[in-house]
Amino acid sequence: MDNKINLIIDFDSTFIKLETIEILADFALENKKNKKNILDLIKKITNKAMKGEIPFSDALYERINLINLKSKHIDLTINYLMNHITNSFIKNKKFFELNHKNCFIISGGFKEIIIPIVKNFNISPNQVYANSFIYKKNKLSLDKNNPLSKNNGKNIIAKNIPGYNIVIGDGFTDYEVKKNGNAKKFIQFTENIDRKTLNAKADLICTDFKNVIDFINNGI
Ligand SMILES: [Mg+2]
Repeated sequence: MDNKINLIIDFDSTFIKLETIEILADFALENKKNKKNILDLIKKITNKAMKGEIPFSDALYERINLINLKSKHIDLTINYLMNHITNSFIKNKKFFELNHKNCFIISGGFKEIIIPIVKNFNISPNQVYANSFIYKKNKLSLDKNNPLSKNNGKNIIAKNIPGYNIVIGDGFTDYEVKKNGNAKKFIQFTENIDRKTLNAKADLICTDFKNVIDFINNGI
């Protein structure tokens, strides 16, 4: 791969099949009698944010405030998600072994969870940009100073990655990186979820990571 090309890869519903926050909530709400209602609400908020109907930052705080997170929930979620990596990412692991220096994760998810998962794909911690937690007496809260907790967070990070950036993701916040000129192309990744409202905004729609590799190898 041309070493001027950078792949900016989303995590939730792209690198992994699921939305991290929903799995965290599933563990954190264990034994709560209104668990189903809260999970449904969290899903609804995620979908609205990923379609661009509500601001990302509002969605993030609204969802985090619905659950009481502890550090054990982080460990449980890492173990669970290790087994829910997107199929075509696993099939194309070799690509990451060869090109990991050009691969960046920019996610509205959480560093503590993403770093150990993408490590198996040779992506180093300093190429992972995501939210982070503050630990206080075994209770977790979000670091509000992290740019990725804010609206437009992905743009703030992508702006500082020099080169020919290609952003790959399933959601509106991924498209926004291209919209704001911080990536040359937006590849909508639909293997896990196809958000139809984004189809017309995508330079390419990929149902498999192999399509991304072919796109790059064919000179873009
Ligand atoms: Mg996503």
